[in-house]
Amino acid sequence: MNLIVIGGGIVGLATAYKWQLKNPEGVVTVLEKEAGVAKHQTGRNSGVIHSGIYYKPGSLKATTCRDGYQQLVEFVEKYNVDYDLCGKLIVATEERELPQIDRIYARGIENGLEGLEIIGPDEMTDAEPFVAGIKAIKVPQTGIVDYVGMCLKLAELIVELQPESRVLPHQRVIRITQKGKVTAVKTDTDTFIADRVVACGGLEADRLAALDGLNLDVKIVPFRGDYYDLTPSGEHKVKHLIYPVPDPDLPFLGVHFTRMIKGGVECGPNAVFSFKREGYSKTSFSLRDSLNALRFSGTWNLFKKHWRYGLGEYERAFSRSKFLEALQKLIPSLEDSDITPARAGVRAQALRPDGTLVDDFVIEKGRAAIHVINAPSPAATASLAIADRIVKAL
Ligand SMILES: Cc1cc2nc3c(=O)[nH]c(=O)nc-3n(C[C@H](O)[C@H](O)[C@H](O)COP(=O)(O)OP(=O)(O)OC[C@H]3O[C@@H](n4cnc5c(N)ncnc54)[C@H](O)[C@@H]3O)c2cc1C
Repeated sequence: MNLIVIGGGIVGLATAYKWQLKNPEGVVTVLEKEAGVAKHQTGRNSGVIHSGIYYKPGSLKATTCRDGYQQLVEFVEKYNVDYDLCGKLIVATEERELPQIDRIYARGIENGLEGLEIIGPDEMTDAEPFVAGIKAIKVPQTGIVDYVGMCLKLAELIVELQPESRVLPHQRVIRITQKGKVTAVKTDTDTFIADRVVACGGLEADRLAALDGLNLDVKIVPFRGDYYDLTPSGEHKVKHLIYPVPDPDLPFLGVHFTRMIKGGVECGPNAVFSFKREGYSKTSFSLRDSLNALRFSGTWNLFKKHWRYGLGEYERAFSRSKFLEALQKLIPSLEDSDITPARAGVRAQALRPDGTLVDDFVIEKGRAAIHVINAPSPAATASLAIADRIVKAL
């Protein structure tokens, strides 16, 4: 029995690793179009190990995040990948956010989190002296990790478990064809044959599904997230992780402060509609990606529903002072000299024709392969548990 996994992000690599553990005699080939693993969402995310507090109880996000969290912590501990369970605060700065704080707390309890605390301004400043809020949830489980390091370790283990298995860069998949009992996967340079195929293509997930005859009603829409770094003058203002209260209508958590495992503190990401799926600058543009999104009714319905939020995010993307204003809601003493523009990431988010964003993870079967269609945050945290689901389905 052999397996091809398309996509060398954390979901693809976790799937290849879990399958290899279960099938030590089998051979797995991971096909990645870039020069190495984790070049897109996985290598450009916030590096947070999510606790699972936010997600709808019983959803795939809630169950795989809790299970994936445990597995991830065991994995990174065992294989010496850098991590730190430093905890976070979710901070309400306005009265109108208080009911949402209570809802998130209740969800956390329902999702099985222990040690959550609702705290007031005094305890808040004990934990984070520069934060200004009226009420907060203290989440001890949240942590930070080196996701790229974890991917490199997964890739190493796959080959260690089975020397014939491979993680191949520079292999862009362009065709998937069922041939009797096997499947041929054609890349721009070669053709590979396997008994089973899984596609974990992130920002390209819907296109890979279309190659396999899946007629999806959803499309992947890219949302860019820009980050700023805190400069040395601002870094001491953040000890751990500080998050705002998220908008319950959107799957984004709002711009937050994240202490990074390799050092430094990042602020962001915002969420702006991107004119290029794998484009990381404010002016990145792809005609193909733009037409694809703008010919889809879902994109226009999304714009109609959330135009006010969207405009605000665009303003913040192009105006440093507006971005700073959003950050100052949590840390009022933050000054312009405390931040400097940094990298960006792009989220792959499935969108329905009616303009609603698909909240939960989605995994579907095509003619020849299993496709991970929607795996936004917290899919990095949940990756080892998502992989278990896929291996079971295989
Ligand atoms: C800004 C941002 C912040 C985030 N923060 C967090 C966080 O703190 N914690 C968390 O748990 N999650 C976070 N997430 C979400 C998390 O990063 C993703 O859910 C996760 O990385 C998805 O992994 P993936 O393997 O599905 O996708 P990706 O990492 O995008 O990997 C997909 C891979 O498929 C490859 N590919 C695509 N098409 C082809 C093809 N035709 N042929 C060959 N290869 C192909 C791509 O090159 C890519 O390497 C964040 C995401 C973003 C963007």
